[in-house]
Amino acid sequence: MDLGIAGKTALVCASSKGLGRGCAEMLAANGVNLVLNARGAEALEDAANAIRKAHGVSVVAVAADITSEEGQAEVLAAAGEIDILITNAGGPPPGYWEDWERADFIAAMDANMLTPIALMKALVPGMMARGWGRVVNITSVSVKAPIALLGLSNTARTGLTGFVAGTSRQVADKGVIINNLLPGIHATDRAQVLDNARAAETGQPVEKVAADRAATIPAGRYGTTEEFGATCAFMCSQYAGYMVGQNILLDGGATSATI
Ligand code: NAP
Repeated sequence: MDLGIAGKTALVCASSKGLGRGCAEMLAANGVNLVLNARGAEALEDAANAIRKAHGVSVVAVAADITSEEGQAEVLAAAGEIDILITNAGGPPPGYWEDWERADFIAAMDANMLTPIALMKALVPGMMARGWGRVVNITSVSVKAPIALLGLSNTARTGLTGFVAGTSRQVADKGVIINNLLPGIHATDRAQVLDNARAAETGQPVEKVAADRAATIPAGRYGTTEEFGATCAFMCSQYAGYMVGQNILLDGGATSATI
């Protein structure tokens, strides 16, 4: 299927690795030019070079912390006109509800709620003026079903979800389509870090920890960045024009719910 987005330009935040990288790869495979971002310059340059070589699209790489105001300004200045925005950043740290103070909530909301909102505020007006745009916010399964140890993620990402629910319906008639993509467990560095931590805590081999975790998922395995990226690319396609303000869950069936 031709997604109809060849020649468009996408800003993919936090995309040298993991889920953001998966989205960047699939957009590039469909002929989309890219602005990539991550904090670490070396891995970012490697990703940019690999994508240029594999897909022949133009790739601009901006090493910056997307959750800081300066980082956002730097990325937006380098990006110019953007047709497709994928928001993403690292997730908040784990902990218990009584551990967190006001500053912890503000930091989580800055990174996982106010950063994507600031990027949408900067780029959606241009999309509206040109009559076409796509935004996909990478959030988490935690907005459908809270994860006990990730209260900061549950809180900040649900705030973003509320913003998208309202805003997406105010811009759809201008051809701008905003949705959220909700990962459950995917095989990325972040999943590996969590498995390693659990292995160290319990004294079990990391392979056993990963196998036990995979066994809790009806699909029997972790998701792949390719599957995630392909879903994202479809949500950015010409065919996603009637999908407005939705929360698309990719969790291998782990969230047991009828709808
Ligand atoms: P990952 O494998 O650790 O990759 C994170 C990517 O984001 C890297 O390229 C990293 O590069 C970049 N990054 C992190 N913080 C950044 C920042 N402040 N500014 C710019 N770039 C930044 O993580 P992932 O698994 O892809 O997860 C992506 C998001 O999905 C996270 O918010 C995570 O909480 C959420 N999520 C993941 C899963 C999962 O199973 N993987 C499940 C649910 C939710 P640098 O470190 O060099 O900046």
